[in-house]
Amino acid sequence: SWSSSDSVISSDSAGEPADPADPYRVVLLGAGGVGKSAFASIFAGAADSMDSEDCEPCGDKVCEKDIEVDGETATIILLDTWDAETDNDWTLERYLQTGDAYLLLYSITDRASFLRASELRITLRRLRPVRHTPIILVGNKCDLVRRREVSTSEARACAAVFDCKFIETSTAMQHNVWEAFYGIVRQLRLRRDSGED
Ligand code: GDP
Ligand code: MG
Repeated sequence: SWSSSDSVISSDSAGEPADPADPYRVVLLGAGGVGKSAFASIFAGAADSMDSEDCEPCGDKVCEKDIEVDGETATIILLDTWDAETDNDWTLERYLQTGDAYLLLYSITDRASFLRASELRITLRRLRPVRHTPIILVGNKCDLVRRREVSTSEARACAAVFDCKFIETSTAMQHNVWEAFYGIVRQLRLRRDSGED
């Protein structure tokens, strides 16, 4: 029968689920100054390798690392290559199409960065119409409580409308940064296991 012959087809045949060992490309997005580089350096902290090649079309500022999430190793290629200052539509479009998943950062102390995150979410939806592309809305700098301009409840409601997860972090306090990466890996695995790759 078809089912018995299917079972002997090697795992690299077309249409098979992605290998769990395949790296996931995770892209850092957000306005200038929100903490993307700080996020990347925490991730890179214990990195085995900093890799400045093999990252077309974006170029450098890429870190590849294995992390363990729920007892299973995942390889993440983290991209922090978007220079918000020299941003133009062409580079943004290329950049937005390079990821398997996105960490969409704003600063809780900067309402303009929150609005920028909303714009980026809308652009992402246009460029990545594939459903269930994992995105986490990340409200960084939550240590700066007295300078808060975006409430947790407003951001959570926004994330619900945007169909993405939400977390508040502080790179300064090393609070919830790894949880954001674990959350991305869990969402990527859910998508992989449901065969939506
Ligand atoms: P990028 O432009 O998005 O890459 O932002 P950076 O990572 O360069 O951070 C911009 C500034 O915000 C730097 O001075 C960081 O030290 C500071 N910063 C980043 N994350 C935090 C945070 O969680 N709390 C505080 N208090 N400052 C932060
Ligand atoms: Mg930066």
